Formats: sequence, C-alpha cells, structure tokens
Amino acid sequence: MQKVGKVDLPEGKKIALNLGFDFDSSSVWMESFGKTSQVYTSRGEYGAEVGVPRILNLLDKYELKSTFFIPGHTADTYPDICKEIVARGHEVAHHGYVHEDPTDLPIEEEEAIFVKGLEALDRIGVKPVGYRSPGFDFSPNTIGLLEKYNIKYDSSLMGQDFYPYRPAPCKVNFDKGNEFGEPAAFTEMPVSWYMDDFPHSEFIMTRTGMKPQSQTFEIWKGTFDYGVANTENGMLNVAMHPQVIGRPHNIAMLEEFIKHVIACGAWIAPFVEIVDRIKF
Ligand SMILES: [Zn+2]
Repeated sequence: MQKVGKVDLPEGKKIALNLGFDFDSSSVWMESFGKTSQVYTSRGEYGAEVGVPRILNLLDKYELKSTFFIPGHTADTYPDICKEIVARGHEVAHHGYVHEDPTDLPIEEEEAIFVKGLEALDRIGVKPVGYRSPGFDFSPNTIGLLEKYNIKYDSSLMGQDFYPYRPAPCKVNFDKGNEFGEPAAFTEMPVSWYMDDFPHSEFIMTRTGMKPQSQTFEIWKGTFDYGVANTENGMLNVAMHPQVIGRPHNIAMLEEFIKHVIACGAWIAPFVEIVDRIKF
C-alpha cells in the first residue's frame, strides 16, 4: 500500500491546486525530439519570448503564485526571462539540464546532469527544493539521487491523482510479482498526461496535438470537479508548457479554467507551499 498524505488546506478552501509550467524552451526539441533546426528552436523561443510573459501577466491578474520547472539549458539561454520569473515571486524547480530522459542513463551520468542543472539554476539565484523529470520518467537510481540532494518533492510519477504520496521504488519482475522497497524520503506530487497541455495541444508530426482547447478544458474541469466533490484535503496538479499554453486559444482557456477553480474553492499555490502543509 502507498503511504498517502493529506493537505492541511487554508480555511474555506476545498482542494489545493498547482498550476505548474515546464519552461523547456528549445531543450525539449533538442534532446527529447532530436531537432536542432531553427524552426524547432524557434518553437522554444516562442515559449520564452511570448508564452512566459503572457503567463506571468495572467498570474499577476489573479494574484497567483506558481511553480516553473526550468531546465538548466533554458536558464543559460534565457537568464533574464528566468530571473523575471523569480522576481515576480514564483517558485523555480529542477527539470534536468537539456531535458534529458534519465531512464537508461548510468548513475554517474544522471548525477552529473542533475548537478549541472543545479549549477545553472544557481546562476539565476535559485536553490530548488523540487524536481520534475523531463519526459516524466525515472531511472532505477532517480529516487536515491533525489534523496541524496535533499529534494523535498518530485512531480513526475502517476501513482495517484488527488493525494500526495511517498513513492516506493518498484523492482520489476517478469517471472513473479513486482516488489516495492521502502517509501522515499521525499513527497510525490503526482501528474498525468491528461492534466498536461502538451499531448492535447502541441503539434508533432505523425503524433497528437492540435485538439481544440475546449477538449482540454473539458478534461481538466472534469477532473477538477470530481476532485472537489470526492476528496478531502486533496490536491491536483496541472502541468503546462509556455510554448503550448501561451498560444492565444490556450491562454484564454487557462483563464477560464482559473476563474472556474477559484469560484469552486481551489487554493492555488506553488508546490513549495503545498508540500509544507502535507501530513502523512
Ligand atoms: Zn519538460
């Protein structure tokens, strides 16, 4: 059984909600898709130059604070935009260096990338307490690595929807049942591809995307409404990308979603604040 936590919600609030932004910029195209041409890097550039300012202005309009997961490469490419995120009061968390998928990396390489990401965030004045794996995946060593560097929370795994938990390393067996180790020292703030803008909306040749924003809204609202009606002291996380949610139709949809969740009693906060109020 998972070790599941509950959020000590502020008075009158029904559910905690994190609006998180993975500020990948060009790194997601370079590393995750192997695309380095000017068109692909410009898609990341759009996120930095157009998406982030739109998001910051929207968050300011509703006096909301959020979490930005920033790869070190983005911090090194767009230091001023990243510093602006920090200056506007938002949390910045670790998201690899060039959006590396750690799944098959040797431990030395995974640790070197992790440290490189920390060093890049340090250059914009950030010491992160949270991590989100690029591509939402772990190697067998990731849990131990996050514990070694005193990371307080991760937001990459998919073992819950409305409650945080302590992830237990899963040893995969094909000839018998899988086995679980001791729960990790950090808190997992679970995610899902349903609550992510990228698969719904971003156009990738031969893959998904280009769905109308009404479809994304329906899924996110449906999930949120179910959570409000069926949980106590729970939380929900939305994972977005400036280059996706920053598009005109999507940012307008996000504003409608924000209005809806505020009206329904959501406590919208950065992960660092939510994690401090979790009890196991
Ligand atoms: Zn990412």
